[in-house]
Amino acid sequence: MSKDSNNNSGNGFNRRDFLKFGALGGILAGTGGLLSSCANGSATSRNSDNYAGKAKYIIFLVSDGMSHGTLQMADLMSRRKLGRPSKWISLYEEDRVARGLMDMTTGNSNVPDSAAAASSWGCGQRIYNGNVNMAEDGTEFEPILPLFKNAGRKTGLVTTTKVTHATPAGFSANVPQRGMEDEIAQQYYEREFDIILGGGNIHFSDEHREDGRNLYDGFREKGYKVARSKRELGTAAGFERTLGVFTDHHLPYSLDHENTPDLAENVPTLAEMSQYAIDSMYASGDGFILQIEGGRVDHAAHTMDGTGLVYDQLAFDDAIRVAFDFYDQHPEETLVIITTDHGNANPALNAAGSRYDDSVPNFDKLQTFRYTNNWIMSELNDSSSLSEIRSRIGTATGIEVERAHAQMLYDALRGDFRAAYRMKERPMNVLGDIMSNHTSIAFTGSVHTADYVELAAAGPGSSSIGAFTRNTDLFTLMLESAGVEAPVMAG
Ligand SMILES: [Zn+2]
Repeated sequence: MSKDSNNNSGNGFNRRDFLKFGALGGILAGTGGLLSSCANGSATSRNSDNYAGKAKYIIFLVSDGMSHGTLQMADLMSRRKLGRPSKWISLYEEDRVARGLMDMTTGNSNVPDSAAAASSWGCGQRIYNGNVNMAEDGTEFEPILPLFKNAGRKTGLVTTTKVTHATPAGFSANVPQRGMEDEIAQQYYEREFDIILGGGNIHFSDEHREDGRNLYDGFREKGYKVARSKRELGTAAGFERTLGVFTDHHLPYSLDHENTPDLAENVPTLAEMSQYAIDSMYASGDGFILQIEGGRVDHAAHTMDGTGLVYDQLAFDDAIRVAFDFYDQHPEETLVIITTDHGNANPALNAAGSRYDDSVPNFDKLQTFRYTNNWIMSELNDSSSLSEIRSRIGTATGIEVERAHAQMLYDALRGDFRAAYRMKERPMNVLGDIMSNHTSIAFTGSVHTADYVELAAAGPGSSSIGAFTRNTDLFTLMLESAGVEAPVMAG
């Protein structure tokens, strides 16, 4: 193993100390928990409650690639369009959550990818970017969903990406490369997680899988309900193990979903999938752990698509609302964690106008946009004319872009556009920058960033979250608050 990938010594405790501690009965003995042993003095009082073993239900919500500006803009859109704060910010306003920053450093970089980031929570190790619960030398770390399953809890994964994508896989699978999604689907089948909802038909269907296997048949033989549409999913009626795969690849961006009748009818929203997962697993009576991912916030950031970004963050916010409705009914027994795995492209609402009073009116234009930048680009290519480009943007947004700007996108589509920062050279990113002139949403680039991320939590164990948390501590927190024993590592 490389010198960094298993380095847990940075903040005064390491995993083996925890395991020793656990073996002595400390995990459940009401000592105030592991996290108190590494917390500084100011946090001690908040650790006085004994949360060990109290969390029968854990809901882990992750907006993938959510920079701080994304959180702010979704809140502003919620206030402007819906007349209420976002659920996430309302939890801050009402002082209902513990809140701090989290360091998402991975085994090889301060800039995380989603696989290593989710694995840091999923197995408590800082592994290399691109790996899923596996060290560079092939050492596998048992992820949190199998651990909870072995402890008799129900397990669930809900996402707007392919269900085999890096973030859900980080709680559940072991592969050396995140792209091994056929293998990840196979592991879901073998490990029998209870509720699996999202996109990714290409990794389950015999028409697309490299090995020609039809995993749906396998799941059905094991007694799963298999849903391929919103109607087939329905609403939960008691506990039922369920595989729901609604699209070939990722689910659509929320705004495109809403305004495309076929998609609106056949694909459930993140909030609907979350409700289904919670209702079904709650009905089992066994307790559960559920990861809910707003996965396409990240994709919108990569493509500098402010419209996709804000509306997908709002859809994620609706899922937070569902989770907190459940929390409000079971506050003593439910740990809710809300966070993101890394910043991405660091979008923000920027100043516009001499006294900045054009910023919000520009931002308000998003309220009448019908489709995302990704929708615009999906029909443009290197033979699109200037007028086609302008009309496609007009259809999606009602905005008539300048000829000179349309020309830049025209050139970018043909590989002839040069930006000073190469991360902003792809056609998608050129469109993103063009739209910034109209919406005042601007991006620093089109890739992940090293930002310390937002972390909020409520319920048993949340009081142990201080102002600054190391990513791997969440693994320990979830095990300890649920009273699930950590695996003892070999060596
Ligand atoms: Zn990403």
